[in-house]
Amino acid sequence: MRCDVVVVGAGPAGSMAARHMAEKGLDVVMLEKRQEIGDPVRCAEGVSKTGLRSLTDPDPRWIAAEVRGARLHAPDGTTMVMSEDRSGNEVGYVLERKIFDRGLAMQAALAGARVMVKTRALDLLRRPDGSAGGVKALRFGEVLPIEADLVIGADGVESKVGRWAGIDTSLKPKDIEVCAQFLVYDPAVDDDYCEFFFGNDIAPGGYVWSFPKGRKLANLGLGVLGSRCQPGAPVRLLRQYLERNRPEARVVEMVVGGVPVSGPIERTVADRMMLVGDSARQSDPITGGGILNAMKAGVMAGDVAAVAISDGDLSAAGLMPYEEKWRETIGRQIARHYQLKEFFSRQTDEDLNSLMHSMQSMDMSQMDLRGMLKVLIKLNPKKLWELRNLVV
Ligand SMILES: Cc1cc2nc3c(=O)[nH]c(=O)nc-3n(C[C@H](O)[C@H](O)[C@H](O)COP(=O)(O)OP(=O)(O)OC[C@H]3O[C@@H](n4cnc5c(N)ncnc54)[C@H](O)[C@@H]3O)c2cc1C
Repeated sequence: MRCDVVVVGAGPAGSMAARHMAEKGLDVVMLEKRQEIGDPVRCAEGVSKTGLRSLTDPDPRWIAAEVRGARLHAPDGTTMVMSEDRSGNEVGYVLERKIFDRGLAMQAALAGARVMVKTRALDLLRRPDGSAGGVKALRFGEVLPIEADLVIGADGVESKVGRWAGIDTSLKPKDIEVCAQFLVYDPAVDDDYCEFFFGNDIAPGGYVWSFPKGRKLANLGLGVLGSRCQPGAPVRLLRQYLERNRPEARVVEMVVGGVPVSGPIERTVADRMMLVGDSARQSDPITGGGILNAMKAGVMAGDVAAVAISDGDLSAAGLMPYEEKWRETIGRQIARHYQLKEFFSRQTDEDLNSLMHSMQSMDMSQMDLRGMLKVLIKLNPKKLWELRNLVV
C-alpha cells in the first residue's frame, strides 16, 4: 500500500487530522488497532459545549447529556457551584464516545480517508536516511507494509510512534493519573451537574468525578497520581468510595486507563513524523481532560501536513509550524496548568478545605479559572505566592 500520510490511531486526534488532510486532497490512511472505533470507552466523556462547537457541528447522537455546571466538593464537604460556561474544557456535554469517536472517523472517511480497523501499527518503515517511510502494520494476522511520505502518531497515552521516531515520550509516575471508572445506575445521580470530589483519602493527588449521562446513569470514576498509589489502588479506592458514599449505585460497566498530566513534552515532530493528542501529552494536567486539545492539535497537524507536502519539505524543520502553533495556543495553558497541578498535588486536606472556604465568599458566576486564582491569591497571598506568575 502507498499513501501520502498514514495516521496511527482513530481517536479524536487521529480522526480530526485525517479529515482535515483528506479535505485538502491528500491520500490518507488511518489505522485503528481495535475492531470497533471508540470501544471500549476509557473516558468520563465530558467536554465544554463552546469548545466542541468551535471545532465541529455536534451530531445530537453524540451527546448523552447536557449539564448546567460543575459542583466542587472539598474534603470537609464544603461545596462550590460553577456555571457550565465557566467550568473549563470538560463540562457542558457528556458525550457518548462510542458514537462520537465513530462519528469523527466517519467524517474523515466521508472526506476521503481510508479507515482500516483491526490494523495495528507494529513499527515504522525506514528510509535510507533513517526517517519514517510509513508503517509496518499487522492486519488479520498478516504483516502489511504501508508506505507513506508522512506518519502521524495519534496512538493515545500508550503511544509508541514517538519512541519509534526517537522522541522520549516516557511518563514519570508523578506525571500520570491512573484512573478507574464505573458506569453506574444510581437514583442519587444529579442529572444536571458534573461533580468533583477532592481529598487525599478518597483520591490521593487526584479527584473523584461523577458525570451524569441521563436517566440516573453516570460515569463515576477516580484518578490517582501514579507516584502516590500501588498497583490496583484506583479500583480498590473507587469501590471503597462507592460503598461509603453511593450505597444504591449499581455498576454496569468498568474501565481502567491512564491520563498523561506531564505538561508539554520536549518535541512533537521529527523528520516525516508528527505526534498529536495524548501521544503528544497534550491533555490538561489539572483535569486530565484531553478530547478538545486532541481535536485542536489534529486540525493544526492536518493543516501543517498539507502545506509541508505541497512544499515538498517533510523534514522536522518543515513540520515545525505545527509544533509552534500548538505550543502558542493549547501549549500555554497546558504549561500553566502543569504548575497548578504540581501545587495542588502537594496540598493536605486542611489546605484544600481552607482554599475552598475562601472561595465561598466569591461570586463564581462570572469567573473562570484565571479569575478565580487571582482572587484566591489575594485572599491567601502567603500560601499561593508561587502561583502569582500564572495570573499576570
Ligand atoms: C478514565 C478517563 C477519563 C477521562 N475523562 C475525560 C473527560 O471527561 N474529558 C476529556 O476531555 N478527556 C478525558 N479523558 C482523556 C481523553 O480520553 C483523551 O485525552 C483523549 O481520548 C485523547 O484522544 P487521542 O485521540 O489523543 O487518543 P485516544 O482517544 O486514546 O485514541 C488513540 C487510538 O489509537 C489506537 N491505537 C493505539 N495504538 C495503536 C497502534 N499501534 N496501531 C493502531 N491503532 C492504535 C487506540 O486503540 C485508540 O483508538 C479521560 C481519560 C481517562 C483514561
